[in-house]
Amino acid sequence: MPAADWEAVIGLEVHAHLKTRTKMFCRCTLEYGAAENTSTCPVCLAHPGALPVPNERAIEHTITLGLALGCEISEHAIFARKNYFYPDLPKGYQISQYEAPLCEHGELVVPTADGDERVGIVRAHLEEDAAKTVHAGGATGRSVGADYSLVDFNRGGTPLVEIVSAPDIRSADEADRYLRLLRQTIVELGVSDAEMEKGTLRADVNVSVRRRGEEGYRPRWELKNMNSFTFIRRGIEAAIREQVAAYERGEEIEQSTYDYDADTDRLTVHRSKEEADDYRYFPEPDLVPVEPPRELVERLRAAIGELPAKRIRGYGAEIGHERAEELVMTGNESRATALVEHGVPLATAANVAMNEPAFRLENASELAKIVSARDTLTREAYTAAFAAAVEGVIAADEYLAQTSLSDESALEPVIDAVLAANPEQVATYRGGKEGVLGFLVGQVMRETGGKADPKVVNRLLRERLRG
Ligand code: ZN
Ligand code: MN
Repeated sequence: MPAADWEAVIGLEVHAHLKTRTKMFCRCTLEYGAAENTSTCPVCLAHPGALPVPNERAIEHTITLGLALGCEISEHAIFARKNYFYPDLPKGYQISQYEAPLCEHGELVVPTADGDERVGIVRAHLEEDAAKTVHAGGATGRSVGADYSLVDFNRGGTPLVEIVSAPDIRSADEADRYLRLLRQTIVELGVSDAEMEKGTLRADVNVSVRRRGEEGYRPRWELKNMNSFTFIRRGIEAAIREQVAAYERGEEIEQSTYDYDADTDRLTVHRSKEEADDYRYFPEPDLVPVEPPRELVERLRAAIGELPAKRIRGYGAEIGHERAEELVMTGNESRATALVEHGVPLATAANVAMNEPAFRLENASELAKIVSARDTLTREAYTAAFAAAVEGVIAADEYLAQTSLSDESALEPVIDAVLAANPEQVATYRGGKEGVLGFLVGQVMRETGGKADPKVVNRLLRERLRG
């Protein structure tokens, strides 16, 4: 059976560090890049008798994100203990939300060039990160083969939101689009920096395949702790490829956890089903349920601006989906909309915002005049205006005076002089080698100090040389 008869079933569990000053259950400060083990206390080091106190800001951030994802916000969320043993987890359990998460039943609707793709959000819950383990002395940076391991407890107890998607994603491309939009949404809401390079955004990716039209799901592979968009895409593609090949050979797939090795583009088993985790969740006895007041939820809801998906859809109707997505995702949007406010058409404004230096927004009205006069301005004046608009406040008039020379009666004598001074080039052109025209245009530009409009010069030269 050909590979085209199979479809992928993909779900993502995304972890984002919440932007808070202090940790989830203690007052240790969070500072990226701080010296190891300098931000710890009895609570996050799990000394006996230490008690957790939840971070209010982390709860608010989780609710904000849940609202943006169209989730129902729980009136009675419960923290639970997720028990497992690992050196980076001094308590022997992670405090997380299990049966009663803060946010449930949402969706992220991802705009694409071919319409919307809907991805269900099963839940978004609040938890704490583990400490960071560094395996030293081995070639792979993994525990196997390492000489020793070090633990940095600064990260232990960092507030995390985990966003669990429904298995609605059908390809690596869809996963990539979902993840990028989710990240953009998180960043714009201000709840997390969500930077994969820094580890403040990580994803566990669940992949299975099934025959097209088949109901239900087959066993899945889980790719753990992926922290690059490229590797996530390639890991998904590798998992689909290997699973389809196995089924085609008549083999079965076992539910397992895998590591993706970017160097070999291969997946290696991390843990098989026989070793599957049993976390023995139970409600955290040291914490009361989280019962967010309705007025808090409504205040957070009111503070949410227009979301990126909606803006991409709106711009896309005018300038095409890809351009719209690029505009929103690259952070050039505010400059484009500032120009639009001063009368520049969106398509032009988008081009300018993405191609010219990042000008100060207060210059938008003056730059709108510059952009409108673009065809009559010298290239130098146009470029100088944008360069100056990065540093300080500009006045358009200063640049608008430097209009290009497009008046034919003013250009004609210059052109005549250039042609008279270059008889050889004129003969060459008339002999059929039209490439020499560029040289003649250059001469006219030089004679006019760069002010001539090259389009007009081109046309006038051709007319003269024809005659
Ligand atoms: Zn602490
Ligand atoms: Mn988690």
